[in-house]
Amino acid sequence: MFESFADFAGHSLVTARQDRASGLKAIIAVHNDNRGPAIGGCRILPYPTMGDAVRDVLRLSRGMTYKTAIADIPYGGGKAVIVADPRRDKGDALLEAMGDFVESLGGRYITSFDSGTTMDDVQVIARRTGHAAGFLPEAGNASGSTALGVYHCMRTAAERVGGSASLDGLTVAIQGVGNVGERLAHLLSRDGANLILADVDTAKAHVLAEATGARVVDSAAILREHCDILAPCALGGVLSSATIPELNTRAIVGGANNQLALPEDGARLAERGILYCPDYLANAGGIIDLHYQRSHWDPVVVERHVTSLGETFREVIARAESEKRPTGEIADSIAEERFR
Ligand code: NAD
Repeated sequence: MFESFADFAGHSLVTARQDRASGLKAIIAVHNDNRGPAIGGCRILPYPTMGDAVRDVLRLSRGMTYKTAIADIPYGGGKAVIVADPRRDKGDALLEAMGDFVESLGGRYITSFDSGTTMDDVQVIARRTGHAAGFLPEAGNASGSTALGVYHCMRTAAERVGGSASLDGLTVAIQGVGNVGERLAHLLSRDGANLILADVDTAKAHVLAEATGARVVDSAAILREHCDILAPCALGGVLSSATIPELNTRAIVGGANNQLALPEDGARLAERGILYCPDYLANAGGIIDLHYQRSHWDPVVVERHVTSLGETFREVIARAESEKRPTGEIADSIAEERFR
């Protein structure tokens, strides 16, 4: 069944489990584990069909291989999805059954949180498996490291668009002020950036704007705002043939996964002279955080590693310029050199 999906190629393990007692219907995909066990969150979504769930898990696990490689941590890429409505179906029985499923793979896949799951949920999963990460109390929410990685990649972008790594006086537009976007806004406001915020939850955007001196715009309009750096921190697929011609930014650095609707949208951005930080590089701070939560937690070491994402972006830009290729292709090449 899995062979008919385009992203199945290259996967080393894809397995499904259905358990009537708990209601679990789940898929785990391990894309590549050459560098170490596959790591990636567990998503709970009411996928309309099993085909949609398979497509999502395969695409996401492949992305995790590139993310762990670019972040240079000793892991491969994996992902899990549970087909359920998190608001209605999520409970201890479902999560514990997922823990049994993860445990059955003997450590080839390490799970964590994602859309539809929280740190508390991962703790319930961990009742049944030693292969779960992201709830070390002293570490707090890994989204802080994700935001920090985005911030350091923005400083690298600022060198290109503003002439120095300082974000002071630059205008940054943030789409989505959730876990990542909110933390990012605080880091940028501390540095003196002018902020424009948008969220479908407008009340949340206004509260944050009050604290950071930002301006709030409609979530449909944020992509067209005049700014130095645009930060997609809500959804995937926002950079497309429809939206790219309307952008009024010089660089894009954000936390959202899968920002390009299609791979060729990277070339579209380059043609418009818009510097694009590959999403899995910009948002790799969270997975770096999980690595240290599982090995040896030291906040100074974590911060140093997350900060290095900005240096990696600088290398990507240099290679993109010398090879005249889009930044996304260069990041893919660096990751592939590491995991193949
Ligand atoms: P979140 O759910 O906490 O925040 C997303 C925010 O975007 C919410 O406030 C939501 O209301 C808003 N939003 C949704 N649709 C929108 C729209 N059309 N326009 C404007 N705002 C909209 O999620 P998060 O944890 O902050 O993650 C954000 C993105 O970053 C996701 O794509 C996620 O996969 C990715 N990501 C997150 C982490 C992490 O550590 N949290 C790590 C890697 C990648």
